[in-house]
Amino acid sequence: MKRPEDYAGKRVIIAGGGDSALDWTIHLAELTSSLTLIHRRNEFRGALDSVEKVRKLKHEGRIHLITPAEVTDLQGNGKLVAITIEKEGVTETIETDYFIPLFGLVPKLGPIAGWGLELEKNAIKVNNALDYSTNIPGVYAVGDVNTYPYKMKLILCGFHEAAIVCQSIYQRLNPHKKFVLKYTTVSGVDGFDGSRKEAEKTGCNSY
Ligand SMILES: Cc1cc2nc3c(=O)[nH]c(=O)nc-3n(C[C@H](O)[C@H](O)[C@H](O)COP(=O)(O)OP(=O)(O)OC[C@H]3O[C@@H](n4cnc5c(N)ncnc54)[C@H](O)[C@@H]3O)c2cc1C
Repeated sequence: MKRPEDYAGKRVIIAGGGDSALDWTIHLAELTSSLTLIHRRNEFRGALDSVEKVRKLKHEGRIHLITPAEVTDLQGNGKLVAITIEKEGVTETIETDYFIPLFGLVPKLGPIAGWGLELEKNAIKVNNALDYSTNIPGVYAVGDVNTYPYKMKLILCGFHEAAIVCQSIYQRLNPHKKFVLKYTTVSGVDGFDGSRKEAEKTGCNSY
């Protein structure tokens, strides 16, 4: 979805029930001549705020919402013309210019799967009690690619894991140096332009 403007004035059908389907429905409803959201359940799995926005768009007649229904066929010859849906045993054909299926991600490890790393459910097992190291010494895994008990695939968790891994790698590379935790707000940070960036200091004068 790199050029949302391509959908301006077009008939668009989105299928899916998660955040991506809801977000794009809300965004494209402003641009398209007709927007239909199809989901196989009546309940959506996205953020409550987005679900409410989509319901509001439907009540205002700005989008069509079809649930519970599944897309069963696409029609066209080199170019999409219509889709077929099945809703509670009834088949219906809807003409459209675009069909956007947003059914989620299927993460694949690719060549990493063959590295000898311990895997579980298509993710790399790490030691979360220590430093997110894998079973191969010197190889760490952070972010969505790793797994451990209570793992949450969130940006916040990935950043936390990365900070722990960095200090562990630092210790590994500099076994005789003491690791000192510093705050960038206090000590500043080296910018990409080579200069030192420091937070503005506020003084406290006594009179
Ligand atoms: C629809 C949706 C909504 C979300 N909303 C939120 C939210 O509101 N808040 C939140 O905290 N989290 C949210 N998340 C989760 C969040 O996006 C992820 O937890 C986070 O992006 C994981 O970061 P990552 O760096 O581990 O992986 P990714 O962001 O997936 O980055 C991995 C990168 O590696 C690249 N890559 C893959 N294979 C190779 C290879 N062989 N060589 C080189 N590069 C490669 C990929 O192209 C990708 O750029 C959401 C996720 C989705 C799908």
